[in-house]
Amino acid sequence: MWIDTHCHLDAPEFEPDRAAERARARALGVQRCVLPAVQRRDWAGVQQLAQEHGDAYALGIHPLYVPQAQLGDLDALDQALSDCRGDPRLVAVGEIGLDFFVPALCTPEMRARQWHFYSVQLQLARRHGLPVILHVRRSGDLLLKGLRQTVVSGGIAHAFNGSLQQAQAFTALGFALGFGGAMTFERATALRALASDLPLSALVLETDAPDIPPQWLYRTAQERGDGQAQGRNSPAELPRIAQVLAQLRGLDLPALAQATRDNAYRVLPRLQDLACATIAGAR
Ligand SMILES: [Zn+2]
Repeated sequence: MWIDTHCHLDAPEFEPDRAAERARARALGVQRCVLPAVQRRDWAGVQQLAQEHGDAYALGIHPLYVPQAQLGDLDALDQALSDCRGDPRLVAVGEIGLDFFVPALCTPEMRARQWHFYSVQLQLARRHGLPVILHVRRSGDLLLKGLRQTVVSGGIAHAFNGSLQQAQAFTALGFALGFGGAMTFERATALRALASDLPLSALVLETDAPDIPPQWLYRTAQERGDGQAQGRNSPAELPRIAQVLAQLRGLDLPALAQATRDNAYRVLPRLQDLACATIAGAR
């Protein structure tokens, strides 16, 4: 049984076959997906999808959506988190964070605006007693600074691709690190070294579907130039991604499944509550 701790099942890429793709993942052992929202407009949608498919969700404003977000969306998030307090499927605030890879987000104004949305959302997570799901892209140290200013109850640094020192700093603050498609590339030697050397207790699995296709789905720039579409990642790829991690660590699949599930439950405690409720028949 696998948990995909980061899956954008609400993305338009899944419009044609969303339910079938989720069912295919379930048939392959992906019992639960965590669906993080990226903007206010999508909050109701991830909640509804989680309900429909027996999954979990997070509410937040993603750094790539900060340019078009309104300041009032932060008040709306506060309200939405209050409204959903009794919903066992709400497991975190996310996806939030900082992105200093996209040039348009690196102007002084955009850096300040990203920081504002990030720090206010950390305060909301704290106030509502929820962990956070972090988007980390060339921003690890500043994200850590925010976490030291506003202490939250941990969470996940998703698609982690930083240094060993940053990995240790996140885990010391109660975070697990999300590993997915990027780790499947043989040339990703630094990331693979982290995946194999970090304590097993630091790792959770994710796809970030439909993004970050694993090596077997990835189309190169040349292939795309020749008219092939970039491969669409799916929660159904999680077991094969897990196989790569199992090989890197010399673990068998059941042991990896159990360890990564336990880790997900530790950093997203409401996910475990949801599992217990499901076993009790509440689905
Ligand atoms: Zn994401």
